[in-house]
Amino acid sequence: MSILVVNSGSSSIKFQVVNTENGTAVASGLVEQIGESEGRVVLDLSGDESEKKLEIPDHAKGLQIAFDMLADAGVDLGDSVSAVGHRVVHGGEVFYRPTLVDDKVLKKIDELSSLAPLHNPPNVLGIEVARTQLPDVPHVAVFDTAFFHGLPAAAATYAIDRDIARQHGIRRYGFHGTSHEYVSQQVEQFLGRDGLNQIVLHLGNGASASAIRAGSPIDTSMGLTPLEGLVMGTRSGDIDPGVVMHLRRSADMDVDAIDELLNRRSGLKGLSGINDFRALQKRIDDGDSDASLAYDVYVHRLRKYIGAYMLELGHLDTITFTAGVGENAASVRADALANLSGFGIEVDEERNAQRSKHARVISTDASAVTVLVVPTNEELAIARATDALVRTANEA
Ligand code: ADP
Repeated sequence: MSILVVNSGSSSIKFQVVNTENGTAVASGLVEQIGESEGRVVLDLSGDESEKKLEIPDHAKGLQIAFDMLADAGVDLGDSVSAVGHRVVHGGEVFYRPTLVDDKVLKKIDELSSLAPLHNPPNVLGIEVARTQLPDVPHVAVFDTAFFHGLPAAAATYAIDRDIARQHGIRRYGFHGTSHEYVSQQVEQFLGRDGLNQIVLHLGNGASASAIRAGSPIDTSMGLTPLEGLVMGTRSGDIDPGVVMHLRRSADMDVDAIDELLNRRSGLKGLSGINDFRALQKRIDDGDSDASLAYDVYVHRLRKYIGAYMLELGHLDTITFTAGVGENAASVRADALANLSGFGIEVDEERNAQRSKHARVISTDASAVTVLVVPTNEELAIARATDALVRTANEA
């Protein structure tokens, strides 16, 4: 089956046509700078890239242009795609498994926008646009929060007034769930073992950690929103909530300005001016002290979470790095796990330095905890979840 996977953001749409039988991407593309004077559509057909630059006024037009480019290249989505899987960031308490989209479901996802104002509205827009253009196939929403729905209450609950929390849906939901689930399953497959106690570190632009016991998460670093936890490209991660009140009172910033500060101008970017990790590493090599401090804060927070999750799990089998930084930045992996041989964690310098696009072990043979690098593939996971749901629905 070919599944179209759509990930619609505020000014961009990423998509991929995935063959779920062999797990390959038949085509992938990116529509970006939607709403700006010059937008860009990039298409990749099995390594063959093409690009168009033109004004893209809205999401509908963006997706239309991408579909037309695909048709010109001989890929007719109407013919070849049997379902569309949509990445949806927040499922709240309502959605915790892949869900067939109808008008009622779409309305509910839209209502959850109060919990995820930056994410759910563009997700809803992407679903609307894709449903209009591919009306004859099922559309499935796959939620970033779903994997963490069953978090133990002690990990999911904030210590605030319980009535207010209940009234406003305030709890720790967790995000990047599709990636944490996919990567932890890949680890078990790769090692040929199951029931493992795992820590998964998803380090991309956004970053999150999870502690997983025998396939079920027992804790994760993101909370009500993706702002909590690790230091990220542009997000602060954990911060004393008192900072928010202080900024409101002393800096006369309103809630939107503080939101923008913590989500878009903090993290690595706030500390060094740069959110891209490769550029940050270059700055460090050039002797930039702000960049060095940003790196140190990033690694410090990471180690703090690894330590906490080791204790929560009691016994640890694996630590896995994934996503752009986790898969590529050997120094982060080495520094995050430096001097932990007393805890049975030993990274092999040579294995860690090797570059590969495949799953691999980077710990020494003597290390009690196996350390791995496993590439994430959220699109494939969404495509498989969509495929499975559509098949079940067809059988019913
Ligand atoms: P997103 O959250 O947008 O999916 P990615 O998982 O693609 O993010 O990760 C993007 C981050 O990965 C960027 O900070 C980028 O600099 C970093 N990255 C990509 N390749 C490398 C590399 N070779 N070395 C260090 N960092 C890298």
